[in-house]
Amino acid sequence: MRDERSRVAVKKRVTAPVLNVIFNDLSLKYYSITPRMAKKVKVLDTTLRDGEQTPGVSLTVDQKLAIAKALDDLGVDVIEAGSAITSAGEREAIRKIAGEGLHAEVASFARILPQDIDLALSCDVDSVFLVAPTSDLHIKYKLKSTREKVLEKIVECVQYSRSHGLKVDLCAEDGSRTDAAFLLAVLEAAQEHKADRFTVADTVGVFLPERATEVFKAVSAKAKIPLGIHCHDDLGLATANTLAAVKAGAAMVDVAVNGLGERAGNASLEEVVLGLTVGYGYTTGVQTEKIRAVSKLVERLCGIPVPPNKAVVGDNAFTHEAGIHVDGILKKPETYEAIKPELVGARRRFVLGKHVGLK
Ligand code: MN
Repeated sequence: MRDERSRVAVKKRVTAPVLNVIFNDLSLKYYSITPRMAKKVKVLDTTLRDGEQTPGVSLTVDQKLAIAKALDDLGVDVIEAGSAITSAGEREAIRKIAGEGLHAEVASFARILPQDIDLALSCDVDSVFLVAPTSDLHIKYKLKSTREKVLEKIVECVQYSRSHGLKVDLCAEDGSRTDAAFLLAVLEAAQEHKADRFTVADTVGVFLPERATEVFKAVSAKAKIPLGIHCHDDLGLATANTLAAVKAGAAMVDVAVNGLGERAGNASLEEVVLGLTVGYGYTTGVQTEKIRAVSKLVERLCGIPVPPNKAVVGDNAFTHEAGIHVDGILKKPETYEAIKPELVGARRRFVLGKHVGLK
């Protein structure tokens, strides 16, 4: 009898607080930012490089500078300002951004070629986003080279960049389809030669969250330098994969405003930042209440309309039509909203449509 009672007592002691915690989490964490983890995740914005590779987008020097200033004001840690190898006009834009005295580190894209690094140096950037193809597919068919030769080029270019005062973010292109042992060999070469960061790119968007977790756990176990994750949205999983990589050890996320980028785009800044902060309680330097204004600026200057139903920054993201929803919102907004609109600089809207429920 006594045993029975004590079992019940123990059960009560355990279940009550646990249920309470779950309830509090559900009611609080998606409606306002409540940082619960000390980890700060850095944000590299590639709107001006990968984002500008969106078909149909071509920015002028002044437009690139305006976006760079807005990104700096937003609070991103690194601005990948462009690719110094593209053209003289592109170099002029990168040089202007680098000379603007922004808080953010300014980077240029470069391949593993010393002449690319010379062009980056001519723009006075702080760092190079040094992209090395590492999958056998890319090495064999694109470069017509070998793993050994690629490793040699990586070492040469990391050393060359560092000796000229550039920080190096060594990016394993097609890293998600790279042989696991070779990916670790590349990491080890990068850190031995004093690269500052190592980024794994899911260049064609084939990661699944579980696979991203697996890869980042393996890489984290050997990493002595911060890890970055660069995802594309070919299967609509760029945000999920980016978050999975952070949970498994990545310290920097590569993102683009409005999810711009090659093909289906890059992981979007607004989704990843909200996922990190609201979802997981990490912190970033991004001032979320400025997100909508930056999204609108990028939409206008790039000429790529944001779909109305786009997460976080779409015009319908905080618009309510159905009568039941409007009724709930008026009584308690979190009944039909995941986050407060003010958190991302947006406003709640009600529209009258056929679902409003009036007779
Ligand atoms: Mn990319």
